[in-house]
Amino acid sequence: MPGRHFLQIPGPTPVPDRLLRAMHRQQEDHRSSAFPTLTKSILSRLPQIVNQTNGQAFVFPASGTAMWEAALVNTLDSGARLLAVRFGQFSHLFINTARALGYDVDVIEVLWGEAAPADQIEAALRADTTHAYQGVLLVHNETATGVTSDVAGVRAAIDRAAHPALLFVDGVSSIASLEFQFDAWGVDLAITGSQKGFMLPGGLGILHVSEKALARVDSATTLRSYFDLRAMRAQNANGYFPSTPALSLLFGLDESITMLLEEGMTNVAARHLRLATGVRAAVRAWGLLPCARRPEIESNTLTAIVVPEGINSSSVVDIAFRRYDISLGAGLGEVAGKVFRIGHLGDTNALTLAGALAGVEMALADAGVPIVLGSGVGAALSHWRVPA
Ligand code: PLP
Repeated sequence: MPGRHFLQIPGPTPVPDRLLRAMHRQQEDHRSSAFPTLTKSILSRLPQIVNQTNGQAFVFPASGTAMWEAALVNTLDSGARLLAVRFGQFSHLFINTARALGYDVDVIEVLWGEAAPADQIEAALRADTTHAYQGVLLVHNETATGVTSDVAGVRAAIDRAAHPALLFVDGVSSIASLEFQFDAWGVDLAITGSQKGFMLPGGLGILHVSEKALARVDSATTLRSYFDLRAMRAQNANGYFPSTPALSLLFGLDESITMLLEEGMTNVAARHLRLATGVRAAVRAWGLLPCARRPEIESNTLTAIVVPEGINSSSVVDIAFRRYDISLGAGLGEVAGKVFRIGHLGDTNALTLAGALAGVEMALADAGVPIVLGSGVGAALSHWRVPA
């Protein structure tokens, strides 16, 4: 199909030309005396993306899923007990990963479309008088449902319970797009990947680790090899990596950090809020409901939209792809067939999203959803236009 494909899934996102150019380079010797300049440029600036001043950031040739594993195996004793909240496909998979690694995970089950309940976390931690839980697992932005949880609220709950558990936060679809206050929220391990807010191809796993969590790395008894932070730390200190780094992606990440810091992380978050608000206006104008059950928990990086009874959301996604050249996110896990998702993070703007919403409208109408063509686009434009 001529024209540009609209990649409106919540990651991978389109890669800006500036980052494509940064990655279009010859490979280099990663053991040369010049190489540490690149490593140090990345590792010294990554913490600014999440407002981190304590601890350290790490980068692996890997993805977000791998950083779940890296975070767990470096800081927990084998078989450790954990507390987690399940409220979407990614929190579900985080729990599965922890269980596959032999950890004993107690799960607070929450309706998909709701956020993490700080009160229930507090109650579970208060009941744990022997401090058996070594960690609390939280997905900041549940990409399956378009719900953002209150990390500061969960930290406050942990503190009220005076519990020493480490706070593990999956920020795969929030970091580098939404506000993320690593220090102020008392996060111990923050997990992300390169293919969302950083606007790069998939292939890099990024892990932010607090001083408190770093202090666990030597004594934690879980076996580990590739993800061992001790080897990574030792090599990073001199500007190198223990094994061959994903060099092209590192060139891209260095430039992506520059782009994000040039804009400023507060502005990045404000931009995502503005775009998300327009998309939400479109959803309301269509007469459809977001999967997120309350406006205050709606995500600014993606919107998951519930289709009416009798319509399969997968057919909306497939019609959109085949007829209108736009990729939308399908429903995952418990909400498969019931929701579809529009990604509005990374390298996108109001006009791109207006085109995307037009594609969504045609696909919805073709799939039999009774919407008025132009209604959502019009509502979004009313939000996005900037009258003189
Ligand atoms: N966590 C969240 C919230 C995600 O959205 C994703 C992927 O979309 C993952 C984890 C898994 O990351 P990856 O696909 O990079 O392994």
